[in-house]
Amino acid sequence: MQAQPTASHFINGEYVEDTAGDVIECIYPATGEVIAKLHSATPAIINAALDAAKAAQVGWAKLSGTQRGRVLRRAADIMRDRNRELSVLETLDTGKPMQETLYVDATSAADALEYFGGLAGSITGEHIPLGEDWVYTKRIPLGVCVGIGAWNYPTQISCWKGAPAMACGNSMVFKPSEMTPLCALKVAEIMIEAGAPAGLFNVIQGYGDVGAALSTDPRVDKVSLTGSAATGKKVYAAAAAGMKHVTMELGGKSPLIIFDDADIENAIGGAMLGNFYSTGQVCSNGTRVFVQEGIKDAFIKRLAERTAAIKLGDPMDEETQMGPMVSARQREIVMGFVGKGVTEGATLVTGGKVIDRDGFYIEPTIFADVTDDMTIAREEIFGPIMSILTFTDEDEVIARANDTDLGLAGGVFTRDIQRAHRVIDRMDAGTCYINTYNDAPVEAPFGGVKGSGVGRENSKAAIEHYSQLKTVYVKMGDVDAPY
Ligand code: NAD
Repeated sequence: MQAQPTASHFINGEYVEDTAGDVIECIYPATGEVIAKLHSATPAIINAALDAAKAAQVGWAKLSGTQRGRVLRRAADIMRDRNRELSVLETLDTGKPMQETLYVDATSAADALEYFGGLAGSITGEHIPLGEDWVYTKRIPLGVCVGIGAWNYPTQISCWKGAPAMACGNSMVFKPSEMTPLCALKVAEIMIEAGAPAGLFNVIQGYGDVGAALSTDPRVDKVSLTGSAATGKKVYAAAAAGMKHVTMELGGKSPLIIFDDADIENAIGGAMLGNFYSTGQVCSNGTRVFVQEGIKDAFIKRLAERTAAIKLGDPMDEETQMGPMVSARQREIVMGFVGKGVTEGATLVTGGKVIDRDGFYIEPTIFADVTDDMTIAREEIFGPIMSILTFTDEDEVIARANDTDLGLAGGVFTRDIQRAHRVIDRMDAGTCYINTYNDAPVEAPFGGVKGSGVGRENSKAAIEHYSQLKTVYVKMGDVDAPY
């Protein structure tokens, strides 16, 4: 299998190579094969990308919002037309099954381009009357935005950042994760095909050092990272030194609370989606599943049955429901957590083993009798490992759910609507769910509180994070100076 792109980087409307950069091997997680070799950006490549973005931004910001939006909406149509080809590439990049990538990757990226393309013409300031005088505000672009991606949703992340940035009149240099370098290059190609000016959306490859160089460069006005909380702290600090704007979409250890009056099949479905989708490699996953004591046994019995029926295998087979982990290293990290779960006394209900086949497969795993202090209940695992904890009453479970430094997401399953809203109200999380889990439509703000980050992606809220206000005071009479 080969997926070698024309070159490693896409700058100023064309593919560019610089073989002096460190080699990045792109490995297909389902087989372990090297499917492409790319090069990390050298200082010359970083310079070229930032210069191109800086130059392109000036003309782009002068277009009307409707003109900018038209380009974004055209790009959305092209992505939808090419959904299958882009989904295959997403599967090669990440190992996620086609059953997922055909429905949630290029399609959600296209949703972002379409949504922000539609919004671009409505990005306005306001008029503030002051008697005869008045103030008007303009919502202006930030300038050059840098996007730095994680490896779990490479197409989606590039557009969740790129679409609002471009709608507001900014340009972008996007650095994908070194583990999934392929998909964003296609987005850059498509933007050109849709009529974007050369240099508006550039993609350069690289490890953390390239991300760090971008985060400190004086040409950069904003850094938007999707990554771990540890990386977030570094990037936030680096950006702060240059007084740059930031969006930080970081990790989570989110609670999913299931009361004994919940529809149990729906609750189990939510818990499985919130732990096993994308082989558990989703930031907002509800990895601490708090089940009310009375339904614990029934919940676990049925959950184990449904988990045993998950079809795991070749991600290119559209019947496959679960693929491999993204890399051998990530699998090793996850297996380390499984080991800790066992030694710290959790009950292994099912799974817990590496699967004996090519690629980085691991069994969907459920631990019961997990307690709040166990490592698997405290640290983000980022793999298909569900931890079940039990609780007796509402106050107790909310206190325990909130006892974490992170706060990306959280959910509740109950048929009692007052309880549902009461619990969500008290939950320290930025993105919450009632009787569902992990939906992320572009119309809704997405992001975390506490250590899970700052800023919001998607929705009208994202516009505020990719633009700034200019306030203009207009005087109609004489200036009343005491001098
Ligand atoms: P990571 O933090 O290791 O890497 C993220 C990106 O940051 C990569 O592109 C990496 O090259 C870059 N990077 C690393 N060090 C850097 C530095 N010092 N300066 C600038 N850039 C640097 O994360 P990952 O392992 O790729 O992704 C998994 C993590 O991402 C998980 O914690 C997950 O929860 C989180 N995530 C969050 C969201 C969200 O929207 N909140 C979505 C997906 C993933």
